[in-house]
Amino acid sequence: MDDVAIAWFRRDLRLADNPAWAAATAHQVALPVAVLEPRLVRAAGPHRLLAYFGALAGLEQSLNELDASLHVVVGDPIEVISQLAVETGGATVAVNADVTEYSMRRDAKVAEALGRPLDSHWGTLVHPPGSVLTGKGTLSQVFTPFWKRWQALPLPPAVGTGRVGVAGTVLAADLNFGPAGLTTISLAEARSELERLGVSVPSVDDVPTTAAWSEPRAAEQLTTWLEQVDRYNEIRDGFDIAGTSELSSALHFGLLSPRAIAAQVATGTAGRSAFVRQLAWRDWYSHLTYEHPDITRRALRPAYDRIKWRTGAPADQDFKAWSTGRCGYPIVDAAMRQLSATGWIHNRLRMIAASFLVKDLLIDWRRGEQWFRRLLRDGDIAQNAGNWQWCAGTGPDASPYFRVFSPVTQSRRYDPEGNYLRRWLPELARLPNRQIHAPWDAPPQVLSVAGVRLGVDYPAPVVDHAQARQRALDAYRCALDTETDSA
Ligand code: FAD
Repeated sequence: MDDVAIAWFRRDLRLADNPAWAAATAHQVALPVAVLEPRLVRAAGPHRLLAYFGALAGLEQSLNELDASLHVVVGDPIEVISQLAVETGGATVAVNADVTEYSMRRDAKVAEALGRPLDSHWGTLVHPPGSVLTGKGTLSQVFTPFWKRWQALPLPPAVGTGRVGVAGTVLAADLNFGPAGLTTISLAEARSELERLGVSVPSVDDVPTTAAWSEPRAAEQLTTWLEQVDRYNEIRDGFDIAGTSELSSALHFGLLSPRAIAAQVATGTAGRSAFVRQLAWRDWYSHLTYEHPDITRRALRPAYDRIKWRTGAPADQDFKAWSTGRCGYPIVDAAMRQLSATGWIHNRLRMIAASFLVKDLLIDWRRGEQWFRRLLRDGDIAQNAGNWQWCAGTGPDASPYFRVFSPVTQSRRYDPEGNYLRRWLPELARLPNRQIHAPWDAPPQVLSVAGVRLGVDYPAPVVDHAQARQRALDAYRCALDTETDSA
């Protein structure tokens, strides 16, 4: 067989500025492959799954336009990829690496099964792990020095859209690997195969072939966002307006190249610079995850693993109230309901909801991290765990533990008219602006006129914020004192 490369698509579901795709298409024949792992599909929540299948459908469509196919296999990539490589006569396997513990282990095992390394690139970050270092050659544990160094580095070069058609690379559409060969199937067939295995997947109707989460759609979304980006630092805090890019899902699935976004946005205005800085946060959490693969399990500042989180039935009840949007604090409830319904919430709402779980309810951040990760469409190990550790004060350069968000103050400041609250909490919609943020403070006649019976139509607060704040401060202090005692 000719000089063949397998382009194994994972979280890089695009053709533009994709280093692994460019490397694969530098070979004579390139075979675009996606492996659907039943275990991973099962673990993803409904919103992420829908976006994933949409993104795969988009990739399939882009390949079809090049007269090629996306070759899908349902199975364990350790077996599938090595088998495909054998059948294609020892093909090179080109990938974009990922920073998570699971993906690093998986790639090591695939390489072992292949008997040679993967042709591994970095296409999902602006700067790869290990490239943004302090003078001592280490990863900065504080963000600002990381950001300064990050900014000073030249952007990695663009790789274009691969050399399809230019260098005469053939995209293997109908390669026949022989009767004993592993059968690759279409995305639609893969969906049926997963269903046969008892794994629920989004229905065909929900994932139109003109994929809602495709690369071209993400590119359009970026173009629209660029009209606003100059004002980013003025509008980014408003969660009732489209003040941020909402590109996180496109970045999570690699529909857009973060390097290309950074190059396109550049830093000509304060808004642009503030936006690019967020891409650096994204890189920083990825680099930290690369260095600390157990970021979802362990506090990056170990003393904080001594905090005595609440457990048992009352804590479980409170967790349920929080996660289902029924804790009695309107801003937290609205955020959690939006999260369940849509799979996306604004960064400030993520911070408010996370702070409430960890500080007001004194429930382990790991439980919240898992809940968010399952429901978020952009649910991402590095970004989610990094941010949860920031909110819990357990990560490096995190919010100090004594900073406890007041849900009412945040609500009044960022949603003064209560428009956001009214959208997600229709039962409170008739309360006046003054009262909607803290219905328990409303005089009985105001509640009555608005048709709200606290504890019936809308829950009474599960905790008193001032008392809960004190309980959290005591628990954190106690954990830190234990560290001092044992030092
Ligand atoms: P924009 O404000 O337009 O920012 C542009 C891009 O920069 C984002 O798309 C994102 O890729 C990156 N970015 C922005 N803020 C952050 C940040 N704080 N940390 C890292 N990268 C950032 N982001 C995820 O992508 N996946 C997650 O699972 C995730 N979980 C989070 C959990 C908590 C508790 C918190 C507080 C934040 C979490 N974030 C997560 C970060 C952030 O909230 C989202 O990236 C952002 O809200 C996405 O909206 P946007 O695309 O409009 O962001």
